[in-house]
Amino acid sequence: MDVITRDDIVNWIQACADAIAENRDTLTDLDAAIGDADHGANMDRGFKAVAAKLPSLADKDMATVLKTTGMTLISTVGGASGALYGTFFLQAAQACAGKVELDARGWLAVYAAGVTGIANRGKAAAGDKTMIDALAPALSALREAVELNTPLGLAVARMAAAAKQGAEATVPLVARKGRASYLGERSAGHQDPGATSTTLILEAAAKAWSA
Ligand code: ADP
Ligand code: MG
Repeated sequence: MDVITRDDIVNWIQACADAIAENRDTLTDLDAAIGDADHGANMDRGFKAVAAKLPSLADKDMATVLKTTGMTLISTVGGASGALYGTFFLQAAQACAGKVELDARGWLAVYAAGVTGIANRGKAAAGDKTMIDALAPALSALREAVELNTPLGLAVARMAAAAKQGAEATVPLVARKGRASYLGERSAGHQDPGATSTTLILEAAAKAWSA
Protein backbone atom coordinates (compact mmCIF):
# COMPACT_ATOMS: atom_id res chain seq x y z
CA MET A 1 0.00 0.00 0.00
CA ASP A 2 1.16 3.55 -0.69
CA VAL A 3 -1.39 5.50 1.31
CA ILE A 4 -3.73 5.04 4.27
CA THR A 5 -7.40 5.78 3.55
CA ARG A 6 -10.37 6.14 5.90
CA ASP A 7 -11.25 2.49 5.16
CA ASP A 8 -7.75 1.47 6.23
CA ILE A 9 -8.24 3.38 9.48
CA VAL A 10 -11.56 1.58 10.06
CA ASN A 11 -9.90 -1.80 9.32
CA TRP A 12 -7.13 -0.95 11.79
CA ILE A 13 -9.58 -0.04 14.57
CA GLN A 14 -11.51 -3.27 13.97
CA ALA A 15 -8.25 -5.25 14.01
CA CYS A 16 -7.39 -3.56 17.34
CA ALA A 17 -10.74 -4.65 18.79
CA ASP A 18 -10.13 -8.23 17.59
CA ALA A 19 -6.56 -8.37 18.93
CA ILE A 20 -7.50 -6.89 22.30
CA ALA A 21 -10.41 -9.33 22.68
CA GLU A 22 -8.11 -12.22 21.83
CA ASN A 23 -5.47 -11.09 24.31
CA ARG A 24 -7.78 -9.83 27.03
CA ASP A 25 -6.68 -12.45 29.57
CA THR A 26 -2.97 -11.88 28.85
CA LEU A 27 -3.36 -8.14 29.48
CA THR A 28 -5.31 -8.82 32.65
CA ASP A 29 -2.70 -11.28 33.93
CA LEU A 30 0.07 -8.73 33.32
CA ASP A 31 -1.94 -6.07 35.19
CA ALA A 32 -2.66 -8.57 38.00
CA ALA A 33 1.10 -8.86 38.57
CA ILE A 34 1.85 -5.14 38.94
CA GLY A 35 -1.52 -3.35 38.96
CA ASP A 36 -5.16 -4.05 39.68
CA ALA A 37 -5.95 -6.76 37.09
CA ASP A 38 -8.29 -4.64 34.98
CA HIS A 39 -6.27 -3.67 31.88
CA GLY A 40 -7.64 -6.51 29.72
CA ALA A 41 -11.22 -5.85 30.76
CA ASN A 42 -10.77 -2.07 30.41
CA MET A 43 -9.35 -2.26 26.90
CA ASP A 44 -11.78 -4.93 25.71
CA ARG A 45 -14.77 -2.92 26.98
CA GLY A 46 -13.46 0.18 25.22
CA PHE A 47 -12.60 -1.35 21.86
CA LYS A 48 -15.84 -3.36 21.79
CA ALA A 49 -17.72 -0.07 22.23
CA VAL A 50 -15.66 1.51 19.45
CA ALA A 51 -16.21 -1.45 17.11
CA ALA A 52 -19.96 -1.22 17.72
CA LYS A 53 -19.88 2.37 16.44
CA LEU A 54 -17.92 1.65 13.25
CA PRO A 55 -20.97 0.77 11.09
CA SER A 56 -22.53 4.16 11.89
CA LEU A 57 -19.35 5.90 10.66
CA ALA A 58 -19.52 4.47 7.13
CA ASP A 59 -19.73 7.89 5.45
CA LYS A 60 -17.37 9.70 7.83
CA ASP A 61 -13.79 10.80 7.13
CA MET A 62 -10.70 9.47 8.91
CA ALA A 63 -10.53 12.36 11.37
CA THR A 64 -14.10 11.66 12.50
CA VAL A 65 -13.38 7.93 12.84
CA LEU A 66 -10.30 8.66 14.97
CA LYS A 67 -12.10 11.30 17.05
CA THR A 68 -15.04 8.98 17.74
CA THR A 69 -12.56 6.25 18.72
CA GLY A 70 -10.81 8.60 21.16
CA MET A 71 -14.02 9.89 22.74
CA THR A 72 -15.44 6.39 23.07
CA LEU A 73 -12.26 5.06 24.70
CA ILE A 74 -12.24 7.95 27.18
CA SER A 75 -15.85 7.32 28.17
CA THR A 76 -15.71 3.51 28.34
CA VAL A 77 -12.22 2.24 29.23
CA GLY A 78 -11.78 3.80 32.65
CA GLY A 79 -8.40 3.56 34.33
CA ALA A 80 -5.30 5.49 33.35
CA SER A 81 -5.14 3.82 29.96
CA GLY A 82 -8.58 5.11 28.85
CA ALA A 83 -7.61 8.76 29.16
CA LEU A 84 -4.20 8.08 27.62
CA TYR A 85 -5.29 6.04 24.59
CA GLY A 86 -8.27 8.37 24.21
CA THR A 87 -5.89 11.31 24.01
CA PHE A 88 -3.80 9.44 21.44
CA PHE A 89 -6.75 9.05 19.07
CA LEU A 90 -8.08 12.60 19.65
CA GLN A 91 -4.68 14.13 18.88
CA ALA A 92 -4.24 11.83 15.88
CA ALA A 93 -7.67 12.97 14.66
CA GLN A 94 -6.68 16.62 14.91
CA ALA A 95 -3.50 15.96 12.95
CA CYS A 96 -5.42 14.52 10.00
CA ALA A 97 -8.34 16.95 9.96
CA GLY A 98 -9.69 17.32 6.40
CA LYS A 99 -7.35 14.65 4.93
CA VAL A 100 -8.65 11.86 2.70
CA GLU A 101 -5.42 9.86 2.68
CA LEU A 102 -2.06 9.70 4.44
CA ASP A 103 1.25 8.80 2.87
CA ALA A 104 4.14 7.59 5.07
CA ARG A 105 5.06 11.16 6.06
CA GLY A 106 1.41 11.96 6.80
CA TRP A 107 1.09 8.85 8.99
CA LEU A 108 4.28 9.88 10.80
CA ALA A 109 2.73 13.29 11.59
CA VAL A 110 -0.51 11.69 12.79
CA TYR A 111 1.21 9.02 14.92
CA ALA A 112 3.67 11.55 16.38
CA ALA A 113 0.77 13.82 17.38
CA GLY A 114 -0.89 10.92 19.19
CA VAL A 115 2.28 9.95 21.07
CA THR A 116 2.94 13.58 22.02
CA GLY A 117 -0.61 13.74 23.38
CA ILE A 118 0.01 10.74 25.64
CA ALA A 119 3.41 12.04 26.75
CA ASN A 120 1.93 15.46 27.65
CA ARG A 121 -0.98 13.96 29.49
CA GLY A 122 0.80 11.15 31.36
CA LYS A 123 4.17 12.87 31.84
CA ALA A 124 5.98 9.53 31.61
CA ALA A 125 9.52 9.41 30.23
CA ALA A 126 11.24 6.54 28.44
CA GLY A 127 12.19 3.87 30.96
CA ASP A 128 9.34 4.63 33.40
CA LYS A 129 7.80 1.24 32.51
CA THR A 130 4.67 2.51 30.73
CA MET A 131 3.11 2.38 27.29
CA ILE A 132 5.59 5.12 26.32
CA ASP A 133 8.28 2.41 26.30
CA ALA A 134 6.51 0.83 23.31
CA LEU A 135 5.07 3.99 21.70
CA ALA A 136 8.36 5.91 21.57
CA PRO A 137 10.57 3.21 19.98
CA ALA A 138 7.83 2.72 17.38
CA LEU A 139 7.92 6.45 16.65
CA SER A 140 11.71 6.33 16.22
CA ALA A 141 11.42 3.32 13.93
CA LEU A 142 8.77 5.06 11.82
CA ARG A 143 10.81 8.27 11.61
CA GLU A 144 13.86 6.33 10.47
CA ALA A 145 11.82 4.33 7.94
CA VAL A 146 10.31 7.51 6.49
CA GLU A 147 13.75 9.11 6.18
CA LEU A 148 14.89 6.04 4.21
CA ASN A 149 11.77 6.16 1.98
CA THR A 150 10.72 2.73 3.22
CA PRO A 151 7.39 1.56 1.76
CA LEU A 152 4.50 2.31 4.12
CA GLY A 153 3.55 -1.31 4.88
CA LEU A 154 7.13 -2.18 5.81
CA ALA A 155 7.47 1.00 7.87
CA VAL A 156 4.41 0.03 9.93
CA ALA A 157 5.76 -3.52 10.38
CA ARG A 158 8.99 -1.97 11.74
CA MET A 159 6.90 0.11 14.17
CA ALA A 160 5.20 -3.02 15.48
CA ALA A 161 8.52 -4.84 15.86
CA ALA A 162 10.03 -1.86 17.72
CA ALA A 163 7.01 -1.66 20.03
CA LYS A 164 7.27 -5.37 20.83
CA GLN A 165 10.95 -5.05 21.62
CA GLY A 166 10.23 -1.98 23.77
CA ALA A 167 7.47 -3.78 25.65
CA GLU A 168 9.72 -6.78 26.31
CA ALA A 169 12.41 -4.42 27.56
CA THR A 170 10.04 -3.15 30.29
CA VAL A 171 10.38 -6.48 32.15
CA PRO A 172 13.41 -5.58 34.31
CA LEU A 173 12.35 -1.94 34.79
CA VAL A 174 11.03 -0.45 38.04
CA ALA A 175 7.79 1.48 37.38
CA ARG A 176 7.94 5.20 38.00
CA LYS A 177 4.44 6.12 36.77
CA GLY A 178 0.94 4.75 37.23
CA ARG A 179 -0.37 2.16 39.65
CA ALA A 180 2.64 -0.15 39.21
CA SER A 181 4.89 2.56 40.70
CA TYR A 182 3.23 1.95 44.11
CA LEU A 183 5.04 -1.41 44.14
CA GLY A 184 8.47 0.19 43.83
CA GLU A 185 11.21 -2.42 43.29
CA ARG A 186 8.62 -5.21 43.30
CA SER A 187 7.34 -3.98 39.91
CA ALA A 188 10.53 -5.32 38.31
CA GLY A 189 10.35 -8.74 36.64
CA HIS A 190 7.02 -8.21 34.85
CA GLN A 191 6.15 -6.79 31.42
CA ASP A 192 4.12 -3.58 31.50
CA PRO A 193 0.48 -4.16 30.52
CA GLY A 194 0.11 -0.82 28.70
CA ALA A 195 3.28 -1.35 26.63
CA THR A 196 1.84 -4.76 25.75
CA SER A 197 -1.51 -3.33 24.59
CA THR A 198 0.37 -0.72 22.56
CA THR A 199 2.20 -3.57 20.82
CA LEU A 200 -1.13 -5.23 20.00
CA ILE A 201 -2.47 -1.94 18.57
CA LEU A 202 0.56 -1.47 16.32
CA GLU A 203 0.66 -5.15 15.30
CA ALA A 204 -3.00 -4.71 14.33
CA ALA A 205 -2.00 -1.80 12.07
CA ALA A 206 0.80 -3.82 10.49
CA LYS A 207 -1.60 -6.70 9.86
CA ALA A 208 -4.47 -4.54 8.57
CA TRP A 209 -2.17 -2.59 6.27
CA SER A 210 0.10 -5.40 5.04
CA ALA A 211 -1.60 -5.76 1.62
P1 ADP B 1 -5.09 1.62 35.84
O1 ADP B 1 -3.63 1.66 36.11
O2 ADP B 1 -5.78 2.89 36.19
O3 ADP B 1 -5.74 0.39 36.41
P2 ADP B 1 -4.96 0.28 33.27
O4 ADP B 1 -4.71 -0.95 34.06
O5 ADP B 1 -6.05 0.19 32.25
O6 ADP B 1 -5.26 1.51 34.24
O7 ADP B 1 -3.63 0.72 32.52
C1 ADP B 1 -2.36 0.57 33.10
C2 ADP B 1 -1.29 1.01 32.11
O8 ADP B 1 -1.39 2.40 31.87
C3 ADP B 1 0.12 0.79 32.58
O9 ADP B 1 0.55 -0.53 32.30
C4 ADP B 1 0.91 1.84 31.86
O10 ADP B 1 1.43 1.35 30.63
C5 ADP B 1 -0.11 2.90 31.55
N1 ADP B 1 0.14 4.12 32.32
C6 ADP B 1 -0.20 4.38 33.60
N2 ADP B 1 0.16 5.62 33.95
C7 ADP B 1 0.77 6.17 32.86
C8 ADP B 1 1.37 7.44 32.57
N3 ADP B 1 1.42 8.42 33.47
N4 ADP B 1 1.89 7.62 31.31
C9 ADP B 1 1.83 6.64 30.39
N5 ADP B 1 1.27 5.44 30.60
C10 ADP B 1 0.76 5.20 31.83
MG1 MG C 1 -5.17 -1.55 35.93
